[in-house]
Amino acid sequence: MASRDPVADLRRIAFLLERANEATYRVRAFRSAAATVAALGPAELAERAAAGTLAELSGVGDVTARCVTESLAGEEPVYLRRLAATEGTDLQGAAAVLRAALRGDCHAHSDWSDGGSPIEEMALAAVEIGHEYLVLTDHSPRLTVARGLTAARLRRQLDHVAKVNDALPEGFRILTGIEVDILADGSLDQEDELLARLDVVVGSVHSNLRDDSARMTRRMLAAIENPHLDILGHLTGRKVAAAGAGDKAHRGGRTRPPSDFDLTRVLAACVEHGKAVEINCRPDRLDPPKRMLTVAVEAGCLFSIDTDAHAPGQLDWQRYGCERAALCGVPVDRVVNSWPADRLLAWTSGHSGGN
Ligand SMILES: [Zn+2]
Ligand SMILES: [Zn+2]
Repeated sequence: MASRDPVADLRRIAFLLERANEATYRVRAFRSAAATVAALGPAELAERAAAGTLAELSGVGDVTARCVTESLAGEEPVYLRRLAATEGTDLQGAAAVLRAALRGDCHAHSDWSDGGSPIEEMALAAVEIGHEYLVLTDHSPRLTVARGLTAARLRRQLDHVAKVNDALPEGFRILTGIEVDILADGSLDQEDELLARLDVVVGSVHSNLRDDSARMTRRMLAAIENPHLDILGHLTGRKVAAAGAGDKAHRGGRTRPPSDFDLTRVLAACVEHGKAVEINCRPDRLDPPKRMLTVAVEAGCLFSIDTDAHAPGQLDWQRYGCERAALCGVPVDRVVNSWPADRLLAWTSGHSGGN
């Protein structure tokens, strides 16, 4: 039997574990084993597999060593087969149509801020999912708990993304972006010059989430009116108990009610300024809630169905947003990430005074 690619199998397992929201340490075991194995020559790899000494390598354990051995023998690793068998059921009807229409993702993090993987890994996963683009939206300076990027680090990231893009397959590109904090006064937490340079700007409220309604409404309206903002991230800031969450950070507790603001005015401002309301796909957010999503559809808003992924496998969470969007009657042509990159970029530069 022809041998399989053990690195691809290990990465696939990591991807499926992330998608299932499994604990980070389990995912990391497979990603680091993949890195170790990728660095070995084929001869040493075969030799170690035959001698049973793979697990002596740093980064490789008994479980990952078994996967590599099975791969090299041309068998689908048992671990992978079991995971693949528990994959979610197929999307139905309108949700499937929406999911099939998506060409990219406008909200994702790398290890430059609080994501777990390098930009290259995130991009490769997006390619495998079939995306044409991925907007990289690491956090802004004031969100220090998430290692938000200072202006200087963001400038370095832009140079780095340009290099990574050169090495990626034809027909796919990383678009530059940011998840910029909407500060207490409604201003955006990054230099104007940089915000103008970025392809896509997602703006989110991460602090003072319990501001009273009048204050929160003023704050959100100021951000929506800011010509740099393109997409309003996780509208209400709520946190829900994620079903089947394996990640400690999201298991149990840690829920948070939606913040208080004038929904009608906020949505009307989004329509007036041509800004998109994010449909955040994270199982621990599911934001906006369905009752608000329905109102946003009726108001005539644009939408962006984004994963807010912090790991490659989470890029496949768009299905959760599509299910909710379908239930609430979101029309496909009003979803900005169903548009080709050129149309998306024409839209973002259209309301930022030509960036
Ligand atoms: Zn956020
Ligand atoms: Zn985010």
